[in-house]
Amino acid sequence: MNAYAENRLSDGSKKDLRELFRIDEADIDVMFDKGSNDIYSTRLWDKNGKNAYSVKLNSIKDTYGDPYCILMVFSDITEELELADKYVVANKAKSQFLANMSHEIRTPINGIMGMDTMLIEELDDGNTEDVRQYAVNIGDASRTLLSIINDILDISKIESGKMELVPVEYELFSVLNDCCNMTLSRAAEKGLRFETEIDRNIPSVLYGDEVRIRQIINNFLSNAVKYTETGRVILRLRELSRHGGSSQLEIEVEDTGKGIKDEDRDKLFDNFTRLDEEKNRNIEGTGLGLSLTQKLVYLMGGEIAVKSEYGKGSVFSVRFSQRIVNSEPMGDFSDRYRRYAEQKRENTVQIDIPDARILVVDDVEMNLQVVKGMLKRTRAVIDTAGSGKECLEKIAAVRYDIIFLDHMMPGMDGIETFEQIKHTSHPNTDTPVIILTANAIVGAKEMYMEKGFTDYLSKPILRNDLIAMLCRYLPEPAVNDKAVTAPPAEEGAVSPPETKAAAADNNNGIAERFPFLDTKLGITYCMDDEEFYVEMIETYLNGDKRQLITEAYEAWNLKDYGTYVHALKSTSLNIGAAELSEHAKALELAAKNGDAEYIKAHHSDVLREYSTLLEQIKAAV
Ligand code: ADP
Repeated sequence: MNAYAENRLSDGSKKDLRELFRIDEADIDVMFDKGSNDIYSTRLWDKNGKNAYSVKLNSIKDTYGDPYCILMVFSDITEELELADKYVVANKAKSQFLANMSHEIRTPINGIMGMDTMLIEELDDGNTEDVRQYAVNIGDASRTLLSIINDILDISKIESGKMELVPVEYELFSVLNDCCNMTLSRAAEKGLRFETEIDRNIPSVLYGDEVRIRQIINNFLSNAVKYTETGRVILRLRELSRHGGSSQLEIEVEDTGKGIKDEDRDKLFDNFTRLDEEKNRNIEGTGLGLSLTQKLVYLMGGEIAVKSEYGKGSVFSVRFSQRIVNSEPMGDFSDRYRRYAEQKRENTVQIDIPDARILVVDDVEMNLQVVKGMLKRTRAVIDTAGSGKECLEKIAAVRYDIIFLDHMMPGMDGIETFEQIKHTSHPNTDTPVIILTANAIVGAKEMYMEKGFTDYLSKPILRNDLIAMLCRYLPEPAVNDKAVTAPPAEEGAVSPPETKAAAADNNNGIAERFPFLDTKLGITYCMDDEEFYVEMIETYLNGDKRQLITEAYEAWNLKDYGTYVHALKSTSLNIGAAELSEHAKALELAAKNGDAEYIKAHHSDVLREYSTLLEQIKAAV
């Protein structure tokens, strides 16, 4: 043993192979036997299993050709083996990624190709309305595709050291405003609340790579919405310190979603890696977002962190510094956002359609009132029906220009009613039927379209969406008469996110009058019309569903039970009773899955919560 080997392997006292390596007698015999005639190679681990050696041995022979000594050469290959392991893991991730990616890329391409075929057919038939919709779908699919490809390009650019930041002067408000707009509509689609807590003293104009900062915030926000089924998402922005003309900022996104397992935490930022694949199978994603975010943050000299509890939720945060251009405080974000949204709302389309005749079908009186209220200014004639049966009676007698039909109704539900509409004779065979639903789950729209509905509107309904439906589907004579007084609002022009701190301001004492409700949320669903909101609260009180829910529970009729708690979910959210809405949602889900245990464990609690709320409302009105 040379000095180096002695130093490495032992203190010099141990010279026997069996004391130094993990090897037994039989292996030693084989080694020496084979090594005396030929060069023999093997691999050995040291006694504590830490280092691996590639071993080559061969005999040295005397002038008569007899072996007189065996020469052994040890090369430490620990690092090489580790690299090889890493390579195998990386390769596996890459194959997994390619499989996912092919799927993610193929989906929009299929969409584009299918739409293109239909477009050409419709062009031949001169059906312009369908053509428009196909073109919109092509646009959506292309944007999805582009964003996947951009992510891949960004990552490879960073990895090859070619990515450069492009700093510009920018207004932080405008960045946050855009991020919030995008998130609000996505969160609303899933029935999630979206809140902001933004430090009002943050300098209004900064210098940095605005595009990348937007990308980072949007990535966090879109993940938070994607991986959260119930509850809320909060965007926080704080200034941690200020020195040398720069501001150290912290952006945080908190959700009440699936959370991340401890053992998965390390893999979170790896390229192409998605976690909990089994559970997240139906959620679109490529596993590139966070790895790109991390790389961008590092490029900006910042830090990224994540706190998470599996099943409860996660908090993703970044810290980075930006040069200050104008230190004047940005001010109250929520206020500014509201003013901006109001300005947008003024530009919202107003239509005047006195000749249009509309039928709205819903078993919940409050929902009928919401739609009526939203359409009051259009001067359209609005009929209502409280059940599928009543709907069939009405359409047998009157011709409507459009029918809005609720899905979840006791007795005959929206789909059954629609089947009857299709198979009976009446003057409404060509009338567009829009399904109203609070089932904002992925794939729901496709399911309804397959059944033959003209379109789909998710609840709680936003006025702009409702008007957009009318513009799209009202037939020619009504459309000709309608006076469009302003261009349609841009997509995403929804009401402001809630600011926790500013819950009580600016709504004429309504927040004080109904402190147990999230009045801001409720008012949002009532077109920001406070009077209408109070009317809705009263309707909610009068539409007491306790008896119906209890009867369905006692008769263990899960279909009706599901329908009633479903109505409780959407009407509660409509008036800003978000928590009760969520509890009702959980019961609805349990009813759907036949989860008797959950229903039995929570039924009385939810009813008690509902009773308390009704009592509180009674006292307040
Ligand atoms: P993806 O395109 O899959 O969303 P990301 O890189 O953005 O890719 O995220 C990687 C993985 O981290 C996701 O697949 C998901 O499993 C997990 N993840 C990211 N954000 C969250 C979150 N807010 N809550 C729970 N899991 C998350």
